[in-house]
Amino acid sequence: MHPNVPLVLRLLASSHSISQKAGSIIRDIMHSGQLNIVDKGFNDLQTEADRSSQRCIIRSLMNQFPKVSIIGEENLEKKDYDVPSDWIVDRLEESVLSHRCPDELQNVQDEDVVVWVDPLDGTSEFTQGLLDHVTILIGLSVKGKAIGGVIHQPFFNHNKAEEQSNLGRTIWGLMGLGAFGVQKVSPPVGKLIVTTTRSHSNDLINKSVEALSPDSVLRVGGAGNKVLQVIEGKAHVYAFASRGCKKWDTCAPEGILHALGGQLTDILGNSLTYIKNENFTNELGVLASHSAANHLEYQSKIPAEVKERLFAKSQSCF
Ligand code: AMP
Ligand code: MG
Ligand code: MG
Repeated sequence: MHPNVPLVLRLLASSHSISQKAGSIIRDIMHSGQLNIVDKGFNDLQTEADRSSQRCIIRSLMNQFPKVSIIGEENLEKKDYDVPSDWIVDRLEESVLSHRCPDELQNVQDEDVVVWVDPLDGTSEFTQGLLDHVTILIGLSVKGKAIGGVIHQPFFNHNKAEEQSNLGRTIWGLMGLGAFGVQKVSPPVGKLIVTTTRSHSNDLINKSVEALSPDSVLRVGGAGNKVLQVIEGKAHVYAFASRGCKKWDTCAPEGILHALGGQLTDILGNSLTYIKNENFTNELGVLASHSAANHLEYQSKIPAEVKERLFAKSQSCF
């Protein structure tokens, strides 16, 4: 199927279609009320929707891309990937395939790619009915670098009665090509809006948010949701000076934000790396700016004490 289309475009076209099926599975489970919540650790929830969404996404990707490494957030067993046949999506989204792959990504091989899957980002908020915070994230990294991905919002338009046939939104992007399904909007001039975690806050996070001297602070769930707020001009910067965010939280948002001229790094300003055999936690936090031109300014306002304490914590993890 489409053997002449470069791998990264086929992966994005497939992920685009799969994310929509996973979104409908999440909605069905939400409506059934059978969330079956378990706590994976401390304040780290998993529901039936997280599990089923991952089963659909990974089984569908494995069928089409058997040689590509795929890493999902949820720890499932092999037998969990025996899914109903209508959960296996093999459609490739034509609007993705119709684009020309940037030259530097034309010859990417299966073994160069890792796909990072967060089957439901914003689980805490999902269990509390804050459905707008929920996204599905499918990110692509090539040789350790985030290059693009898909963000699907299964509940987009859910509270607009007239839009019920138009439920959900799928956004995708690729470095060197741009992002589609979303409009980049400039945040307000002359003030600073910071977005940060709603359910995983702590002292270091609060100190770093304060140090940015924001005019207002948004506290919402989900890394995907917060990066979309930054892209759509609802916030200038997303600051999270804590460990806790994982590679599947940041890969797709980073790839899409970078495709649109923004920047996402750790709190020290280092690029994030995406290696399948390394630590999956972003130990030094996340800082994401609407415009790469302002990134250094925000990064320099994060107090040295916060950076040092986070760095010290990261060293003690090994
Ligand atoms: P939040 O901004 O709190 O919604 O977090 C963004 C993503 O990082 C979500 O997928 C969270 O589950 C994850 N995350 C952040 N902090 C933690 C933490 N302390 N423990 C577990 N997961 C976390
Ligand atoms: Mg997540
Ligand atoms: Mg998740």
